[in-house]
Amino acid sequence: ATPTAVMVATGVGANNGVLIKGGDALERAQKVQYVIFDKTGTLTQGKATVTTVKVFTEMDRGDFLRLLASAEASSEHPIAKAILEYTRHFQFFEASKDSQNHDDGSAMSAWLLDAFDFCAIPGRGVQCHINGKPILVGNRSLLTENGVEIPTNVENFVVDLEENAKTGILVAYDSELIGVVGVADPLKREAAVVVEGLKKMGVRPIMVTGDNWRTARAVAKEVDIQDIRAEVMPAGKADVIRSFQKDGSIVAMVGDGINDSPALAAADVGIAIGAGTDIAIEAADYVLMKNNLEDVITAIDLSRKTFTRIR
Ligand code: ADP
Ligand code: MG
Repeated sequence: ATPTAVMVATGVGANNGVLIKGGDALERAQKVQYVIFDKTGTLTQGKATVTTVKVFTEMDRGDFLRLLASAEASSEHPIAKAILEYTRHFQFFEASKDSQNHDDGSAMSAWLLDAFDFCAIPGRGVQCHINGKPILVGNRSLLTENGVEIPTNVENFVVDLEENAKTGILVAYDSELIGVVGVADPLKREAAVVVEGLKKMGVRPIMVTGDNWRTARAVAKEVDIQDIRAEVMPAGKADVIRSFQKDGSIVAMVGDGINDSPALAAADVGIAIGAGTDIAIEAADYVLMKNNLEDVITAIDLSRKTFTRIR
């Protein structure tokens, strides 16, 4: 393609909210054989909601939610935000019962317990101490690695959530499993159509996630992606990209978060979606400003149209 054609294509992209960082990036996109999608926030809306709260001990539901929210209060993770949002509604309702005032912001922070030694473990969850006892909130690995046993009835409950495309978050207090929270993160509306479109273009869609295999499979099934990699630690996503590149294949990665930037950089074509983090945008070759997965197709199409004509 002539420099003019590249300039025109870059302009067409920009007009459609597809920012292309240079002619090389524009050229590589036409050769893409695999598109690897991050699950959370890329294929899904990234807005988690609590759907289920189940307490497995004698503990009062309010006390359980209070411990849980206090442990998650310092986490930036979408799951933590979902839990705090849910708990805020619960607390507001409880507070309104004893009339007083309805200024829920300060009531909420007064209601939360002090958490000490807070620590976020990427790809696992959070841990801290409340009332002198350790609390763990996260996936199975977080609990088992800390010596917490997961009873069969709890395991069955979590499996059931996962088979319904939800993530089960386990809560242990003082080394005892006290409850489970089910969290849902719905797919973006265009996800399935885009996956289908890519297949028609001869491009193979893949999903990668830090979430567990069962939830990953259930979500992948909804969008009809056959090839998935689950329980991938944040640092492992770039390795997944490299494993697909081994035979010389050209790989695109679509992601949104801080965790995704090494993978975006490792990919032949890194595509940052939406109001992604600055670091993800910096690592990417393409930025999809409209946060719409359809623009993955727009980007590949634009490259094909610009470069195939002169072959
Ligand atoms: P993804 O690749 O889907 O963005 P992450 O790597 O961020 O996933 O997290 C993987 C898993 O670790 C989550 O599905 C969840 O089970 C657990 N996890 C991470 N952070 C938290 C948190 N703040 N609270 C509870 N669970 C968490
Ligand atoms: Mg993530």
